[in-house]
Parts: sequence; structure tokens; C-alpha cells
Amino acid sequence: MSRFLNACYQGLEAYVPGEQPTDMAYIKLNTNESPFPPSDAVIAAVTKEETEKLRLYPDPECGALRDALAESFHTSRENIFVSNGSDDILNFAFMAFAGLGGKAVFPSITYGFYKVFSQLHGIDYETISLNKDFTISPEDYYHKNALVVIANPNAPTGLMLSTEQVEAIVKNNPDNVVLIDEAYIDFGGTSCAPLVSKYDNLLVVQTFSKSRSLAGARLGFAVGNKDLIADLEKIKYSTNPYSINRLSLLAGAAAVNSPAYYKEKCGEIVKVREFAKAELKKQGFFVTDSAANFLFVKKRGVSGEYIYRKLREKGILVRHFNTPEIADFNRITVGTKEQMNALIEALKTIEKESQ
Ligand code: PMP
Repeated sequence: MSRFLNACYQGLEAYVPGEQPTDMAYIKLNTNESPFPPSDAVIAAVTKEETEKLRLYPDPECGALRDALAESFHTSRENIFVSNGSDDILNFAFMAFAGLGGKAVFPSITYGFYKVFSQLHGIDYETISLNKDFTISPEDYYHKNALVVIANPNAPTGLMLSTEQVEAIVKNNPDNVVLIDEAYIDFGGTSCAPLVSKYDNLLVVQTFSKSRSLAGARLGFAVGNKDLIADLEKIKYSTNPYSINRLSLLAGAAAVNSPAYYKEKCGEIVKVREFAKAELKKQGFFVTDSAANFLFVKKRGVSGEYIYRKLREKGILVRHFNTPEIADFNRITVGTKEQMNALIEALKTIEKESQ
């Protein structure tokens, strides 16, 4: 830290991104990307001609991408916000709806960035413990005078609230924004986005990084009442109006316009998830009922750090969590069937080696 850093940032614990090796030597099951490439339409959209246009600024309104999303969500452009990854949108939402002296509420075990955004913007935050089985009780989030933020499915547990449970939280917070982070919604879950036409305090955030195979393009979007979207636009225009580059705008629109491909790939991921879950259970792992593209696992008597390290030695990257609430868990992204078979075999070998 230099002696010049503003005092308000000196205690900030920056977010630590997952490991991103620059070679392709690993089976990469650590940051919940899709194992499948983007659709052919996406690859075709990024032409030499479009690349040459990189000398020009992109469309700050992101009209084509917002229109494509609006059509797929049966809504209008004014109900859609897009920016550089859903992290960017979450950051804007914390600023817009809880910033400068405001308050935020979120589960004690959830996406780590919510705490970082709170600290970054000087927002008071309250965390609510999960139940022993990692579920969320909706009533714990009623009548909170704060921005309520819930990842659904939650991360890293993978557990989901039903649409009815989310609706109850939204109804019971009429004077606050309820932000539902649906980064992992496309792996068998049902989006709450249709509820935004009924509730002016609901903001649903999704990403192109998981089900849409575009983590490297950095694209996220929000669906909400037009006034909430206008608030987010105000923050975006005051920080980085060109937050999405030209090629990502094209890639994103092409992805939205090839839904059949992504639906098929998500279906495949769900099948492989259930297969891998059953195999891990056979090996004695505790595995949550994840509705996401990852499995949250723990083996009694074996350290999660050991599993992480041994898998890494065998060329497989997973995540290790070790906080007081989630001591020694691993989070494993669902890859292809071949990748998961390699994982299962590697875990068997590790078990044998440790005997
Ligand atoms: N929300 C959750 C719950 C996540 O796990 C992630 C991915 N790390 C994000 C949001 C951010 O995704 P992105 O910025 O890639 O859209």
C-alpha cells in the first residue's frame, strides 16, 4: 500500500479472482465457465471487418444487444441494462441502491463480491446465516430497510429458492430494491425475470459468462422496471459509458439469437452434473443438490485443501473454500463428460494414494 491511498480504501479487502492459468494445460473446473465454445453464430459475428471498426467507439446505448435481450425476455429495451460482466452491474446496483450511507443485506455464505462492493462504497452490510443445511429462509429477508441481494441459485452452495419464495421476499420489501443474481439460473432453474413487470423493486441480474460461453467477452445484463434501469444507466454514464466493447456487443447479440444451441449445451451440463454428483456420492462425498453448473462437495475426514492440491498436481483445477462457515469444502465446475470422468478417476487415485 502506498502512503497515498485514500484512507477510505485502506481497510478494503479486495476480491480475489479465481486462478486463470494462461496455458490450456489444466482441466479447468475452478471458475464455472462453460466447457463448450460459443455458438457458430457468435464466432461468425466477430469478422475482420468488425475488428477493423475497433478504431471507433462502441454504441453507448448498446441498442442491438438490449433489443435482442428484450425480445428474448418478452420486454422492452428500456427494461434491459447491459454492462461489462454482471460484476459491473452488481457494482452499479450497490452504488445506485445502497451507496453512500445505505445498507445491504445478503446471506453469510454467498458470492464474495457483495461484501467487497459494500466495503468499497462505504455501505453498511448485514449478513444473514444460512440454515444448517445451507438453505435460505425467505422470511429472514422480510422488511429489511436495505438493498437485499440474493444469488439464486446461491453460490457456492448451488441451492435455489422457488419463484414463490423470491416473490415473497420482493413483496415484503416494498420500499427497497431486491436484487436477484441469477448467474447460474440456466442449469435447470426458473428465472424470476417475468416478475419484474409486477414489481418495481425487483432487479434480476444475469451473465453471459456461464450458460452463454462468453466469460472472456465480459457481458452481463439486468432486467427490471424502467426506472431502476434508468438509475443504473445514470451510474454507468457517470463512470464508463462505453463499458462494453464493439466485439462483445456483437458476440452477445449473436449468442442471444442462437438460443437452441445454448439450451442444448445447458441440458448436457445438467445431465453431466447429475452423473458426477452420483459418482462423487459413491466415493463418500457430501454433495449439495446444486441447480448450478458446479458441485459443492466435502469428504468427511479429508481436507479440502489436500483434495485441491492433489487434483492440481494431476492437472485438474478446482476451488477450495475454507471459511468458518464452509470449512474445507471444494467447489467443482461441471465440465464435459470426459472431464468429469477424468476428475472421478483422479479422486479415486488420490483416495488410494492416501491409504
Ligand atoms: N454472480 C455470481 C453469483 C457469480 O458466481 C459470478 C461469477 N464469479 C458473477 C456474479 C459474476 O459473473 P460475471 O462478472 O462474469 O458476469
